[in-house]
Amino acid sequence: MSNGSSFLHTFEVRGEKVYFHSLTLELYNSPQECPIPAEEQELLTSYRRKAGENNGIVMGCMFLTTRCVRSCGYCFMQGIRPGDMTPAEIDAGLKLMGKGPADLLLYGGEPFLRPNLILHVIRRARSSGADINLSAATGGVPVDPSLAGELASEGTFIIVSMDGPPAVHNSARPLIRGRNSFEKAEEAFHVFRNAGCRVGISVTITEKNIKTVREDFIWLIENFEPDDMGLNPWLHPIAGGRANPMQATGPGILETVVSCMETAIERGMYIEQLARRVRPFVRRIPRLKDCASAGGRLVQIPGGTAGTCDCMTVCGDHGVNLKDTDDIRNLLTDFRDLSPVNFPKCITCPALALCGGGCRYDALHSSGVLKGSRSERCSFEREFLKWMIERSVMYGRESLVPAGGFDTGAMPMPVGTMIGEEQSVDT
Ligand code: SF4
Ligand code: SF4
Repeated sequence: MSNGSSFLHTFEVRGEKVYFHSLTLELYNSPQECPIPAEEQELLTSYRRKAGENNGIVMGCMFLTTRCVRSCGYCFMQGIRPGDMTPAEIDAGLKLMGKGPADLLLYGGEPFLRPNLILHVIRRARSSGADINLSAATGGVPVDPSLAGELASEGTFIIVSMDGPPAVHNSARPLIRGRNSFEKAEEAFHVFRNAGCRVGISVTITEKNIKTVREDFIWLIENFEPDDMGLNPWLHPIAGGRANPMQATGPGILETVVSCMETAIERGMYIEQLARRVRPFVRRIPRLKDCASAGGRLVQIPGGTAGTCDCMTVCGDHGVNLKDTDDIRNLLTDFRDLSPVNFPKCITCPALALCGGGCRYDALHSSGVLKGSRSERCSFEREFLKWMIERSVMYGRESLVPAGGFDTGAMPMPVGTMIGEEQSVDT
């Protein structure tokens, strides 16, 4: 901190001091250039007002089934009873989502084990005339090309979970029966791509693969040419609250993520986790929430339970009856203010208007409260900000943007996590 302001932070780049303001997201050469306290208060108040705005349900997430064919060591759903949603539950969820615009993620378990439910979603969403962007996650099971074609005709974005070449992938994501789950993921990728879907790859970083992630990441880009990449180093605690046994630890997380991001910038590859941080930093537009669960996400699981956070709902926490619209409304209202700008402990953090607060489920398990934080992730956010500041002082903020801009064909980020920004807009 400098000049007494809680929002001004000093960084040293190549021996020179620079001052970063956590509300304006500007870099100053001297503390005298920074806003006066009255201006800071006005900005903070406006961010709090923005964070509390009701944008309706901007993202739906349907756990069509909690069944799966894999037994991934890092899955938070270990021990959860398998079940399927019903067509009536899907109809009720779509009704709550209204006319949109909204994103809807078909999730699980392995959602493609229930193609009939996926078709039901497509047909109902189509006949309702609602403005809904569909996306679906899969680890890879055999998929009928005609279903892939239906999804392509809806403009569906498919996310295939793949951690690297076969040996890396198979060791983290073994099939319950048999070993070669990579083949299934590879086949699914091509079925969807050939049908005309946009297809991204989501990589999970664990203590097992952290040393090879960068080369695995390049291997996946070169072998699949995906429409975007996901890179997730933060594993959710297992149902019941046990720390995830495969969580990577230490400075290797930052080094790995940064080296993958540098590769992505050079190759013009969109990485959601990069875009989430770089876009607000480059545009100087605050990112007040990391996840639409903070008041704009409707999660549904088999059995007619709804919630606003995936993991909490699946693990039996903060779930309500899907039929009770008042309870759903109250739940979304209770979560709406969950932004660092409303957390007293975050006010002096340089990442205040950039980190979005991270995952509320993880924060709850780390700190015991919904308004808490996960300390190792906070350290990562601050170090990542330092990296962005260093790079922008040396080469300009634009040097953080992937070659060709942020690809508009990539998976859009839900409204509510990019407050103040348009969706899918090139920088
Ligand atoms: S708060 Fe965390 S677990 Fe919940 S939906 Fe968001 S990212 Fe997922
Ligand atoms: S990084 Fe952590 S401490 Fe900093 S604003 Fe985000 S949640 Fe708060």
